Formats: sequence, C-alpha cells, structure tokens
Amino acid sequence: ELETEYRLIGKNEVLSHYLPREKFAHKGTYGHSLIIGGSYGKIGAVVLSAKAALHSGSGLVTAYVPECGYTILQTALPEAMVVVDVDKKNISNIDFDISPKVIGLGVGLGKAASTVKALSDFLSENKIPLVIDADGLNILSENQALLKKMPAKTILTPHPKELERLIGKWENDFDKLKKAKDFSKKYDCIIVIKGAHTITLYGEKGYVNTTGNPGMATAGSGDVLTGIITGLVAQGYEPLEATIFGVYLHGKAADLTVENTGYQALTATGIIDGIGEAYLDLF
Ligand code: AMP
Ligand code: MG
Repeated sequence: ELETEYRLIGKNEVLSHYLPREKFAHKGTYGHSLIIGGSYGKIGAVVLSAKAALHSGSGLVTAYVPECGYTILQTALPEAMVVVDVDKKNISNIDFDISPKVIGLGVGLGKAASTVKALSDFLSENKIPLVIDADGLNILSENQALLKKMPAKTILTPHPKELERLIGKWENDFDKLKKAKDFSKKYDCIIVIKGAHTITLYGEKGYVNTTGNPGMATAGSGDVLTGIITGLVAQGYEPLEATIFGVYLHGKAADLTVENTGYQALTATGIIDGIGEAYLDLF
C-alpha cells in the first residue's frame, strides 16, 4: 500500500484545473448532463442531483425518471428537461433519444427486478461516460458481471456501506485502501471513498480532500455530489479532474453554508445553495 502517493487537495490544486467561462460561450458549450434515477418515494434524490448539476455549471440537464417523477421534476426544477420511463414507479427500460455528454446514474433508483434488468441491458449498449452512485452501485455489487461493462474511467461514489458491498469487508484502513485500489485497477474506474476525509483513488494515485464538515451527514448529501461531478464532466473536465474538483466544491459549499446554519440545520439543498459561493471562494 505504501507505494501509493497521496496528495492533499486544496484550493491551489483545484484552481490549476479550473476551466474559465468563455465570453462567446452558449449553453451547448457547457455540455448536457443526464441524471438517471428515482423510484416512487425517492424522486427527490433526482431533483437534488439534477439541481446540483445545474449549479455546478452544466449547460443543459435532463432527468430520466419513472413516470411518477414527471410533475415533481417539472415543478421543482423548471430548468431541467425530463424524459420518463415506460413504468410508473420504477425504471424498467432505459431508453432516450438525446445525446448527453455524461450520465449520473443511480440516485433514488431502488433495486426492483425490472430496474436491475434495465440497468444490465443499458450497460451492455452504453458508451457514454458514467458517474455511478447509490443503488446504481448496489446493483453492480449484487451483479458483479456488470462491472466489466462500465466504460473506462467510470466514476464510482460509494459511502462506506456501498464500498463494503463493492470491494468486500476490510480489516483496517490500509486494507481498505488496498482493496479499493485493486478494484480501481481491475475495472479501470475512479473510486471516491466518501467520508470525513474523502479519498479519490485512480490506479496508483490517491487524492485526499480538505473540505467538508459533519453537517454533511444528512439525507441527500451524496446525491448532490453525484450531480456536481456529473455537471463538471459535462463542462469538459476530464473524469479524474471533475471528481477531485467536485469533491472539493461539495465540501466547500457545505463549509460556507454552515457559517450561517450551523451543522445541525445543514441540508442537501443548503449544500447546493453554497455551490456558487464555493466557486467565488476560489478567486
Ligand atoms: P451519502 O451518504 O451518499 O449521502 O454521502 C454523504 C456525503 O457527505 C459524502 O460526500 C460524505 O463525504 C459527506 N460526509 C458525510 N459525513 C461527513 C463528515 N462527518 N464530514 C465530512 N463529510 C461528510
Ligand atoms: Mg448516497
């Protein structure tokens, strides 16, 4: 494990990757994000991810949800376009005729049998870059043959339980990092080990985030991260840059919002509301 080089990610590292906005840009310049997720009772997760993708700067955002999510999305987030699945309550056949630059997959998805089948069929055909989170990860853990169908440099964002389902139980922190690193190499994926000091792993490299606070231990916090990273890939950041930058911005947004709310009152929506300030804080 000791051969891995770990770098601390602060403002200077993030700024070295920052892509400035161009005067003659139009919304197409900043990419189209597709967020696929949601199930009956968990459409809010998609609202949070799609909203975070918009606030991170994605030019266009479309949400792909079961039919029950249509009115919710169009009402909660007028900036987003919506494509609905054939099924009312669970995603059952992922089918869209748009060409997004990147897909954020899995928040609020659930694990219905029809959803597992839909995900399997989708991964067999898909070549669009992916960010996979939440039940998207859980379905992969339970159907490990699907892992080989991920495009190169797919970004996985597990919290500790999701990580354990993916890589198995670990004995200590060194063992955890070794197992995660081996997994990253085996499937050529970027792994974000979420927690108080989020670590991003890709191959031999490790990146330790320096922003964030315990107020982030709140519902929907991770869904916001998925949307931010997806939105950054849409804008043209390379997958690894987008991941490191996204984890930093997510934590910084929360740090700036808690100055007004304190830890207890921080919500996922509060993290989204801090994204703008987090960008401004870079300069
Ligand atoms: P999730 O469990 O998927 O909602 O993700 C939780 C998010 O909040 C991740 O981005 C974590 O890194 C972050 N988070 C959770 N607890 C803490 C903590 N104690 N300190 C800093 N960040 C945290
Ligand atoms: Mg989560």
